[in-house]
Amino acid sequence: MKKIVALAFLIALTVQATEYEEVTVNVAAKQISGSAYYVPGLSGAATEFEGFISNSGFIVTSEGVVVFDALGSPPLAYSMLKEIRKVTDKDIKLVIVSHYHADHIYGLQVFKDEGAKIWAPKGAWEYIDSETSENLLDSRRELLFPWVNDDTYLVEPDRVIDEDIEFSIGDHKFLINYFGKVHSDGDMSLLDLTNETFYSGDIIFEGRIPFVGDADILEWIRIIGKIRKIPVMYFIPGHGEVSDNPRYTIDSTYRYLNFLIDNFKVSIEDMIEFDVAYDAIDWSEFENENAFDEANRKNAFAVYLYLEKNSD
Ligand SMILES: [Zn+2]
Repeated sequence: MKKIVALAFLIALTVQATEYEEVTVNVAAKQISGSAYYVPGLSGAATEFEGFISNSGFIVTSEGVVVFDALGSPPLAYSMLKEIRKVTDKDIKLVIVSHYHADHIYGLQVFKDEGAKIWAPKGAWEYIDSETSENLLDSRRELLFPWVNDDTYLVEPDRVIDEDIEFSIGDHKFLINYFGKVHSDGDMSLLDLTNETFYSGDIIFEGRIPFVGDADILEWIRIIGKIRKIPVMYFIPGHGEVSDNPRYTIDSTYRYLNFLIDNFKVSIEDMIEFDVAYDAIDWSEFENENAFDEANRKNAFAVYLYLEKNSD
């Protein structure tokens, strides 16, 4: 009996040693369908809510857990791991990363420590090797301290995906759609065919203004057209609530991107300067959405430059 108590104490100590800073945001898994879950992030800009602004998901198969995206800090991912452990004690087999953007990848190290393999889209290495990613991590170590700190690092993928692939784990079938450079340097989605649940990554934003950054916006619009044709029951966007009306969720991003394109196309044809063009646009359709103040002007400028570059 004494031995068991001592062992339990030792295990408790070991668990303690791997613990991360506590988060105060509520990281809670929601069951979507069958064995598919998601962890809804809060609607906000990048450094709000301790970085808990993106969604992640997980699917429990007969042979282990498949995770989709890893949230924006190790403590957030650790909280998600605790949520997974409420449902299953099976191994974390795989993390499918929709794209390499800070709010989806800073938690990866937690799952790597669990022994999971990391699959990421082609383009992940461009991000890892870029100066931008290094500078951003430095800045987030300040802005999201203590949740992102000197122990946070960029996890490299074990496998890079550059085409659509179907695969099985245990009793589950999955399809990864690789989209190429769309919202980021490389984007992909995960369709859990067994539960008819689709995790889109940041191709689709809901409940907040999308982050455009250096996206290829015309390609993005084309890919949204492709996603519309994928038959799914449940749709989990990269940001925002799960939906059982995929068409509606998809259209929110589609409408916003087209609005930017349509308006700035005219400005560029008429050679109107960005600031003048921006102020002349009626933004009322979008200005009440979350992250409008932080993201909209930057997005608009990115689209303006993109269209200028591609206008010949
Ligand atoms: Zn993103």
